This record gives sequence, structure tokens and C-alpha cells, in this order.
Amino acid sequence: MNILILGSGGREHAFAWKLSQSDHLSRLYIAPGNAGTSNLGENIPIGVNDFEKIKEAVLEKVIDLVIVGPEDPLVNGVHDYFLEDAQLKSIPVIGPQKIAAKLEGSKEFAKEFMMRHNIPTAKYQSFTAELLNEGYEFLESLEPPYVLKADGLAAGKGVVILKDLNEAKMELKSMLVDAKFGSASTTVVIEEFLEGIELSVFVLTDGLNYKVLPTAKDYKRIGEGDTGLNTGGMGAISPVPFADKTFMDKVHDQIVKPTIEGLKLDNLPYKGFIFIGLIKVGDEPKVIEYNVRMGDPETEVVLPRIQNDFVELMQAVAKGGLNDVAIKIDARATTTVMTVSGGYPGAYEKGKEIKGIDTIEDSIVFHAGTTLKEGKILTNGGRVLAVTSYGESYKEALAISYKNVQKIQFEGMNYRRDIGFDL
Ligand code: ATP
Repeated sequence: MNILILGSGGREHAFAWKLSQSDHLSRLYIAPGNAGTSNLGENIPIGVNDFEKIKEAVLEKVIDLVIVGPEDPLVNGVHDYFLEDAQLKSIPVIGPQKIAAKLEGSKEFAKEFMMRHNIPTAKYQSFTAELLNEGYEFLESLEPPYVLKADGLAAGKGVVILKDLNEAKMELKSMLVDAKFGSASTTVVIEEFLEGIELSVFVLTDGLNYKVLPTAKDYKRIGEGDTGLNTGGMGAISPVPFADKTFMDKVHDQIVKPTIEGLKLDNLPYKGFIFIGLIKVGDEPKVIEYNVRMGDPETEVVLPRIQNDFVELMQAVAKGGLNDVAIKIDARATTTVMTVSGGYPGAYEKGKEIKGIDTIEDSIVFHAGTTLKEGKILTNGGRVLAVTSYGESYKEALAISYKNVQKIQFEGMNYRRDIGFDL
């Protein structure tokens, strides 16, 4: 079977790594990929939103299945593009259709979905520029801090949390009237602040049946102690120690099951991964967000714990046969520590030579922003390499990840030294 992965991050390298272990895999292609994926398959220099070029590649390389890594092409309708094309429609795409991808593409859509299906989440209201005064009144009715969310995709920057009422009002005006996030903030969701600890739950569905995958917790801020600016993610741990059976039963009954049933009831065609961002408030799970794909760096800790043949798993999703699959999970913990370019998430330089990867034996090094040039591996993004390890406990795994991170060198390299600090 020939498989094409769309994307270029650590998540996609982890997909490529897992697929490569299957005897069912014939050829693997990654568009556009990175230096790590080029060791496992052939990188094709095509952007993930260039559907016409993707079509050409799929036909030329005789692709049998496509796995979509990031949200952008899904929200832009890549799955629908395949279904509407006579030559592509029989080729399965792992990832929801455009209408279902709105669960990530529109926060208002996601909140309405949760309300309709009684899925626990923060109380909210949404506003457009004509309703600015009503927005101010809603803010006045809430206790601080105030959570304002641009409705559309804003590269992870569209959520603003403020303690001061006047600042919150100014922010609302800037989002709605001054289009702070462009068309993404034409609508703004204002919601109640939830106090608790966050975690992520991943579900794989074929549209009818579903399987819950291992939980993970990621660390978003650049600075130790969860301080500083938001990043794409600085590290992750699986499983989440505080997500015990009682809590996960609640997650299943109150969130996972109604989400899958809601997709069916609302006719939202979904074959792929659902990433449910949760917050544990007291002992209760509440949904912060849906993402319509796997997380990065969560994939780098979740996939290494799944023992199933990954090609078989993806085929089961494509064919609607997930019910016949038992998910086998490695009981060990996994951790990943992300090394990033100096300056990230602000301005940073690319093209720094990376050394030391070859000396690492007891971790898996997933590439994110890397590229190959004249036989050298160079940095090519903010997040550069994710160092994933197994251990009997997350502490043991972390010790191995940290030991090996120190073997990697590139100019300006930075990483958080406190992944797992809050557990
Ligand atoms: P991501 O970058 O993870 O995709 P996003 O931009 O889609 O995020 P959300 O996940 O909805 O936005 O929110 C970002 C972060 O803001 C959350 O991870 C959480 O830390 C915080 N947050 C969001 N909503 C709330 C809330 N109601 N109460 C407290 N914190 C919240």
C-alpha cells in the first residue's frame, strides 16, 4: 500500500515512523516533510494547501491512502476535494470533511455543537461587531479573568485571557471592530474562565465506531513554570497521571460518547483523529476545544504507545471497520522534550547545523523544523527536534529524554527543563 502524509512537523515524522513499521506499507511519501521523514520515505515539495499539486502527486505516485497531519487543509476542505474529483474519490483520506472540520475551524460552531449534545464546557456567548455593546454587558456579568476567543483559526494566538474588565472590553473592540485577527475575529466567543489542570484525550473514529487512544499532557509556554509566550508545544507526557479510571469514565460517558453520537446526529462526516482539549475542574472534565487532527508534540508520545499495526488501523478507519480492532497500548510511559531555535516563539534564525542526533541510542528523535542540505541536517523552523523516551514511569522516561537532549547541539538551542514539573 502506498501512503501519502500531508505535513512537515514532528507529528508527521511520528506518523511516518509508525507506518514504516508495518509490512503492509509499500511506498511512503510525505508532502512536504522534513529531514527526518526523508529517511523513511520520499519527501515531495508540495504545500499542504496546494490541492491541485497534491492531486498530481497522488495520481503519479499511485497513492492508496492519504493521512492529513495539520488542520489547515482539513478546514480548507481537502477531504471534500478528493470526494468531488472523479479520479480521487476512491482514495481514502484520514481526516474529517470540511463541515466537520469546523469543530476546530470555528469556536462558535464547536460551542454550539457542545451545547446541542450536552457536552460539559465553559458557559459562553458569541458576538459580532454589531453586538459590541451586548459583548461589553456580557463581560460585565462575568467574574475575571475574561476569556476572549477569535472564532476562526489564528495560528494558536486567537485566545486572549485578561484580568482587567476595561482591558477585556478594549480587546473585544480590537478583535471585532479593528479585525485584530483578520476575518478570524469577525465573531468572538467570550467564555467563563475555568480553573483547573489541562490534558488531552485522543479519539480515532471511522464515523460510526471509535477507539480512545492514550491521553497526553503538553506544555505550551516557552518558559519554565509555564510562563512566557505560547508556543506550538515544548514537550508532552503520556499517560496523564491524574487521569485515573474514575475520571476517564466520566470523560468517556460525558464527552467522548456524546461527541461521536453528536457527529452522527448532525451528519458531520468524520473519519480521523479527534483531539479533545480538556480541563479538569475539581473532579469534573470540561471541554476547552476540539481539534480535528492529532496534536504536536502529543503525537510524539501517543503513537509510540500504540502497538497496533498502523497501516491496518488507518485502513480500518477508511473502511468503517474500527469495531473489529482492539487497540493495544504499551503500559510504559512516554515523554518528549522539544528543542527549539533561539528566540522562538519570537523571531529566530534558520539554517543552523544540527549535530549529535546519531549519538542517541535510547530515545526516538522526531524531527520538526529540520531540512537536509548537502548531507547536513539544518534547523528550518522554531521547533526543531522532539526527543521521545519510554520509561516505567514518566519520571524515568523524562530522565532519558533529558540525558539525550544534551547530546544534541545547534547554535541557539533552547528547551524547557521542567516538563512534567506540575504532576
Ligand atoms: P491551541 O493553540 O491549543 O490550538 P486555541 O488557540 O485553539 O489553542 P483554545 O485551546 O480554545 O485555543 O485556548 C487556548 C488556551 O487558553 C487553552 O489551552 C487554555 O489554557 C486557555 N483557555 C481557553 N479557554 C479557557 C477557559 N474557558 N478557561 C480557562 N482557560 C482557558
